[in-house]
Amino acid sequence: MVITRFAPSPTGRLHVGNIRTALHNWLLAKKNGGRFVLRIDDTDGERSREEYVEAIREDLSWLGLAPDGEERQSQRFDHYEAAFDRLVANGRIYRCYETAQELELKRKVLLGRGLPPIYDRAALELSEADHAAKEAEGVQPHWRFKLDHSAPIAWEDGIRGAQHFDPALLSDPVIRRADGSWLYMLPSAVDDVEMGITDVLRGEDHVSNTAVQIQMFTALSSQPPRFAHEALLVGAEGKLSKRLGSLGCDAFRERGIEPEAIVALLARLGTSLPVEPIADRGEVIGGFDLSTFGRAPARFDDAELDRLNAAIVHQLPYEAVQHRLPEGMGEAGWETVRPNLAHVGEAGDWWRIVTGPIEQPQFDAETREYLAQAVRAFAYLEWSDPTISDQLWRTLTAHLKTATGRKGKALFLPLRQALTGMDHGPDMAALLPLIGEAEARARLERAAL
Ligand code: GLU
Repeated sequence: MVITRFAPSPTGRLHVGNIRTALHNWLLAKKNGGRFVLRIDDTDGERSREEYVEAIREDLSWLGLAPDGEERQSQRFDHYEAAFDRLVANGRIYRCYETAQELELKRKVLLGRGLPPIYDRAALELSEADHAAKEAEGVQPHWRFKLDHSAPIAWEDGIRGAQHFDPALLSDPVIRRADGSWLYMLPSAVDDVEMGITDVLRGEDHVSNTAVQIQMFTALSSQPPRFAHEALLVGAEGKLSKRLGSLGCDAFRERGIEPEAIVALLARLGTSLPVEPIADRGEVIGGFDLSTFGRAPARFDDAELDRLNAAIVHQLPYEAVQHRLPEGMGEAGWETVRPNLAHVGEAGDWWRIVTGPIEQPQFDAETREYLAQAVRAFAYLEWSDPTISDQLWRTLTAHLKTATGRKGKALFLPLRQALTGMDHGPDMAALLPLIGEAEARARLERAAL
């Protein structure tokens, strides 16, 4: 059974990059009939906020990416402690005392000599007496994970293909601070083991973390999960933009973007598959395939999202939007205005055409006479039979065409203007029955005055 996880730190709102990672993990799980777990990475008690945890849940729910389970790192400290004790006992975690300034100096010296700034493992040379002396001074150690230099680290990445790292070219990572608090690396590996995560899919900024964590899995006597690292998301201008880092569900919602448009776009960006307005979630799931992901950065373009959104809105069924529509607007109303919308929120603007009042232009004498004739042509219209209501407009215009010799714009535009107050808009054949006989007649009579 495939189990994926999305592991945000609740130190802010989700942005479009996080949303993409969440979506891909959700899709990978759903495609394989598996489970998608939300893991709240809240080991940092100072920066984590409950309001962000709430916001993450709400955003996922709005996007239709409900997790199959939720875990919180802050409730799992005893698990990290146990793993830590085991790794200390096995000699895979060691005590260090360098200050940030000392480490920075070491880095500068190495860089100055043209060498990679790798931690020199000086702390491994300390004797028990040295440690006792530190303790007597009241200095607490921080802790590093000792990488095994004996063999290269390798994995077959689901997106990047074969990956190789020489562990000797990586610093032993600090995994725990002197105050006992945890850094990201070890708790995440412990969780992936204990939660049975089979697939870790995340951004390529985590590639070197993966190299380290693969050794942690092994040290914890566990088989590493499958890994895949996706190329980062960049703005349309091709750079990692600041704006993308703060663009989240709130902003999308305010702009009238449907979750399905975000899903359709982010599911395909950066893949070899075309971006298409797929509103059906099952179809998005079916099309998800890691082998289509490329290594070039995925470009996020707002204009593309807007286009996709309009195309998605045009497919939304009445039931999906019912609660967001103006009072009294039924299924026929929705289907009539839908093709004219970029956002669902615009439905109200078009609906006012039906409910009125509308503002008509001033017509010249000849057009007023034509509109008066249209009122008389109402005698030919059968309003009471709803099964043929879509024919009212055709009957009306066919009659007027024969009676006046008008055609094209001269035939249709004055009617549209008199009936809706606009030069363009939804299909008149669908609008006319919605406006209704009495109101349509009143509007034409007023325009003909
Ligand atoms: N909390 C980590 C992050 O947001 C999780 C990374 C991971 O997926 O392992 O970067």
